[in-house]
Amino acid sequence: MIISRTSGFADVLTPIGVRTCRVRGKMKQGRAKTDIIVIGDQVTLRTSQVGEPLIESVEPRRTRLARRHPAAGREVEDILVANLDLALLCVARGSPSLRAGVLDRFLVIAEAGDVPACILIGKADLPEDPDEPELVELYRGLGYDVIHVSVRAGTGIDALRTKLEGRMAALVGPSGVGKSSLANELIPGLELGVGAVDEASARGRHTTRLARLVAMPGGGFLADTPGIREVEAFSVPPEALDALFPDLRARRDMCRFRNCRHDAEPGCAIRAAVEDGSIARTRHASYLRMLHGDERSEE
Ligand code: GDP
Ligand code: ZN
Repeated sequence: MIISRTSGFADVLTPIGVRTCRVRGKMKQGRAKTDIIVIGDQVTLRTSQVGEPLIESVEPRRTRLARRHPAAGREVEDILVANLDLALLCVARGSPSLRAGVLDRFLVIAEAGDVPACILIGKADLPEDPDEPELVELYRGLGYDVIHVSVRAGTGIDALRTKLEGRMAALVGPSGVGKSSLANELIPGLELGVGAVDEASARGRHTTRLARLVAMPGGGFLADTPGIREVEAFSVPPEALDALFPDLRARRDMCRFRNCRHDAEPGCAIRAAVEDGSIARTRHASYLRMLHGDERSEE
């Protein structure tokens, strides 16, 4: 398994220890960006004639957490980590992130890569947010686990540790919600920088820092790649977007038109479900925002 990646090299965890491999040009410049090996990839190694370990092949990815950029007229996936078992979508009390719109955007990213997701509400030592009970009920109703955690008060940390045992997980979410603090708590000695970093310098750092998987004391790995914490840039072909909302997906075949975008079309079963309260208005609003590409204007 690829456990860390820098340009040109990859550290591979093998049954006989960690081996550093050069990443061959062929894999670096593959046909699509998706051919590049990423952390979490399962690979086969061989030994070159001069005794150097080389990556021979990459297994198909079970799941992937990716950013997508509309580049060169087509969608290019920028995969950050492969074969994740769990995306921990982090939001927090006392921060603007505790809104349906933010959660929906991250949930769609997880759904798109087949990564099971659960929601962490951080800073649970702070007073409850007025919208929180409704939000928790909505997402539990959609089948997502919602866990309250507080690094400061120690709430929920043991439960989270148990949930993560033996899994490959990543903390994803807006900055400032406490992801680094949580990672430091889960992995003693990790010592990620905590606290608000100004955006420009944070981005500068992102380009040089490596992506890595860090072993957790209870077994399993936590992905540590700055890009993953804020998987922002994301676009999905409009016709595929409704399938990434489980509640919309369940009803989309009932619309009058097969290619219904659930916007202004007559006979839309999803808009009807919003009207009768069986689909949350905030979910449909998030869908429309992503459909129209204005992801940044969260309600
Ligand atoms: P990140 O940007 O998501 O990695 O967030 P950080 O871990 O850097 O934390 C952002 C801020 O939230 C820091 O000032 C932390 O001290 C604070 N913070 C982190 N965890 C908690 C918590 O459990 N409770 C409270 N009240 N504040 C926290
Ligand atoms: Zn419709």
